[in-house]
Amino acid sequence: MKMLRFFFFTLVGLMALEGLANGENDPKKQPRQGVRRIVIDAGHGGSDPGARGRYSTEKDICLAISLRLEQMLKQEMPDVDIYMTRKTDVFDPVTVKARMANEAKGDLFVSIHVNSAEGIRHRELSHYETRTVKNSKGKKITKKVPVYRTWTSPNPAKGTETFIWGNNKNEEKLGAMQENENLYLDSVSARELADFDPYDPVKFQLYSLKSKQYFERSALLAVTVEEEFQKFGRISRKAQQRQKGIWVLHAVAMPAVLIETGFISNPEEEDYLNSEQGQIEICTAIVRALKRYKFSLENKSSNTQSSISPSRGGQR
Ligand SMILES: [Zn+2]
Repeated sequence: MKMLRFFFFTLVGLMALEGLANGENDPKKQPRQGVRRIVIDAGHGGSDPGARGRYSTEKDICLAISLRLEQMLKQEMPDVDIYMTRKTDVFDPVTVKARMANEAKGDLFVSIHVNSAEGIRHRELSHYETRTVKNSKGKKITKKVPVYRTWTSPNPAKGTETFIWGNNKNEEKLGAMQENENLYLDSVSARELADFDPYDPVKFQLYSLKSKQYFERSALLAVTVEEEFQKFGRISRKAQQRQKGIWVLHAVAMPAVLIETGFISNPEEEDYLNSEQGQIEICTAIVRALKRYKFSLENKSSNTQSSISPSRGGQR
């Protein structure tokens, strides 16, 4: 019986995969080819300020950039719908944001963030002080002791980096999904596979196929975004894979990137991130990347041989 079941599932699985490749299935269940709706997610908000600079917060910069990006996209890509996860200073947990994006049936999720690196601590000999101390025999003696001066200077880290959900531990990831079915179902329901059962080999194959496609598209966009930033003279810390701290990218049922637009911890970049010129440059680079991404998908000339390496870490 088990053998028969396995055979049946394999057969149906192969048929389903073939149907998907030939475009024979219900069109509602097809991966969408073009880019019709882009979800813009301004990071943090409300009670969650994100990283702090000398005078500004990540949440405010993310919102300002996202609103500007929305306006620019409406002008530059009029055939694309823009869905914003927030347009005001409000907080929603990433689970809610992921659900919003899935319910909006976006074709792409772009999360806007600002980076931060811890300040560098310094310690320097300032002077010597004469103090009276007791020696080991209990006798009072005077002694010269060094006094140090400590201070923190801003971390010089600067530039942009674009993250995608790491795909380097695929099996582990799928295992984690089976363990946490609720989380998984959340994202799958929007994939219009509402009756998804992670233990069902047919659905599992379909999921894997989509998952692979989303990964490749996310990687393509991430690399393109970084290329466009470099054209404005920004330092690119590259497109990177990561799994920590960017769960939202994994929970949305669409290709997804998280763009770190600059370091709020670097005074020069904090000014840039808050300036009109800086925000226009950032948005222009992202719009150009989105246009290139859309064009490559719609003209099927996408070559997603990206060289994204796993992240060494960083800060959200
Ligand atoms: Zn952030």
